Amino acid sequence: MAVSPQPLSKGLAMVQLNAQTHIRHDAIRAVMDRLRAEHSEYEIDTGINDRWDLRMHYGSLHAAFEDGGMSIRVAAQDETGLSYMKMIVAGHIAGQLGTTGGLRWQGDGNDAGTPVFFREIAVQSSTRLSPRMQRVRFSGHDLGRFAHGGLHVRLLLPPAGRQPVWPSMGADGMIVWPSGEDALTVRVYTIRALNVADGWLDIDFVLHPGTETPAAAFAQGARAGDVIGMIGPGGGGVPEAQNLLLVGDDTALPAIGRILEELPPAACAEALIEVDGPEDRIALTRGDNIAVRWLYRHGREAGRAGLLPAALGERDHSADDLFVWAGCEFADFREIRRIVRKEWGLPRDRHLVTAYWRRGAQGEDEGGEE
Ligand SMILES: Cc1cc2nc3c(=O)[nH]c(=O)nc-3n(C[C@H](O)[C@H](O)[C@H](O)COP(=O)(O)OP(=O)(O)OC[C@H]3O[C@@H](n4cnc5c(N)ncnc54)[C@H](O)[C@@H]3O)c2cc1C
Repeated sequence: MAVSPQPLSKGLAMVQLNAQTHIRHDAIRAVMDRLRAEHSEYEIDTGINDRWDLRMHYGSLHAAFEDGGMSIRVAAQDETGLSYMKMIVAGHIAGQLGTTGGLRWQGDGNDAGTPVFFREIAVQSSTRLSPRMQRVRFSGHDLGRFAHGGLHVRLLLPPAGRQPVWPSMGADGMIVWPSGEDALTVRVYTIRALNVADGWLDIDFVLHPGTETPAAAFAQGARAGDVIGMIGPGGGGVPEAQNLLLVGDDTALPAIGRILEELPPAACAEALIEVDGPEDRIALTRGDNIAVRWLYRHGREAGRAGLLPAALGERDHSADDLFVWAGCEFADFREIRRIVRKEWGLPRDRHLVTAYWRRGAQGEDEGGEE
């Protein structure tokens, strides 16, 4: 799993779990300098050249060049955060050097066996919400960690007719994925609703067209007892803003629904949502502080109608505290990002624009995120 850094969360304090490693490699300093540069917005200025600190959404990272190598320490409030921090380091090193070499972590966290952020979940029920949206309720154990720290998960779909083989953790902190006939199909979805006490969660799947659509096909045929895997959470939570503009197509409808439900009473939100027609509308939380505008494709292909950027372009954006959140097809994502950044001049901390899917691409291939 690629773990993307997210804006700093509130209240990173309390109990800290720590793990550390020391890496000797000719290129390790350059490799870690690149990681530092890529995440420069998270750096805490220590004023010391050979030592630096990043404070990220999932935890913190301290790096020091000493004893002819790089000492790296990661810290987080829980095991999931600690695993993600190890993965950020290990994934970066593997990406740069082609291997994690002898990377081994010491300290807290379990580096072998089932990832702490993995759950096996089973279909409990499946309900058609609209012509193109299927809600699947899954039961699972120990779901509390999925209630905070991100709205999204990766669903792991096992190959049809085979006993699932789930991922495990390597000693370097990377996920070891099953391969060959056991390879899993991975797709990103939003937890629409979660009940930790009763052990269930809802995922709303768009039943989109296409010949090979593993996740949509799974949802369409979901039967009670079907088992899949889930890893997460990730991808940011409800934006901490008082004045929110939510922009999305059918795939972002679950996230918009959840954000509106979890909106603080003092905040206000306007949602611009593109679906095919009025029959695709889903009931959303109402309130004096919430305005919803539906935009209809009326049979035009999803991802080609351009309704969201067009509606955005017409909208007033003069409020000083406006935060824009958007999730949609890649072409719309690019245009929306251009509007909010270039035309409106919104700084990075006042928008989160994400490509949820891309026409012609499967899963996360060539997706886009800020
Ligand atoms: C952070 C995040 C959260 C998401 N949350 C949700 C969610 O809650 N519900 C949800 O339904 N989706 C959600 N998505 C989008 C979902 O991951 C993609 O639509 C995914 O491609 C579906 O997988 P698939 O196996 O059905 O099709 P794929 O195998 O990925 O794609 C097969 C073909 O279908 C096309 N395709 C994919 N999605 C659509 C679509 N919506 N409309 C038309 N054509 C499409 C592709 O371009 C490709 O040509 C989310 C994505 C992200 C990044």
